[in-house]
Amino acid sequence: MTSISMDARAIWHEAAHSVVALRFDFPAADILWENGNFKCTHTGRPGISLRHVYIVLAAGAAAEELEFGGNYNPRGSSADSASISKFGGARIEDYLLEATEILAARRQELESIVKELQKKWQGSIFTGRPNPFKVMSAEEIDAIHNSFLSQYAPAI
Ligand SMILES: [Zn+2]
Repeated sequence: MTSISMDARAIWHEAAHSVVALRFDFPAADILWENGNFKCTHTGRPGISLRHVYIVLAAGAAAEELEFGGNYNPRGSSADSASISKFGGARIEDYLLEATEILAARRQELESIVKELQKKWQGSIFTGRPNPFKVMSAEEIDAIHNSFLSQYAPAI
């Protein structure tokens, strides 16, 4: 669990949830380290499409496949799969393609959040991380997102 490659996979996974959530105008959320896992909880707002919720939840798995090739780690996405079911969705696989398309179109934003998250994570190694530990704040994620906004066509 503590190997660098596991961390990298988890960081790409978590950053991707944020990128796709912001694409669908969910408010940005803090990324926490809690009980040995990265975690971020995007709260919805009235009128949000359930399909968008499913795609946000599938984004972590989609990013793992996009960045590391092969299949995503089902254990790392088991909570995401469970949430999709809870909200009445189908299998997580059914939303991977749409999530992947968004991530591919927003690759630079994804990489920027990954880089920042990695930096903050590494930088906190010797500080004694409380549980939960806020690795990156919603404001910081928003700032990166906003710096890319002008690059996107409305449809992507
Ligand atoms: Zn996830």
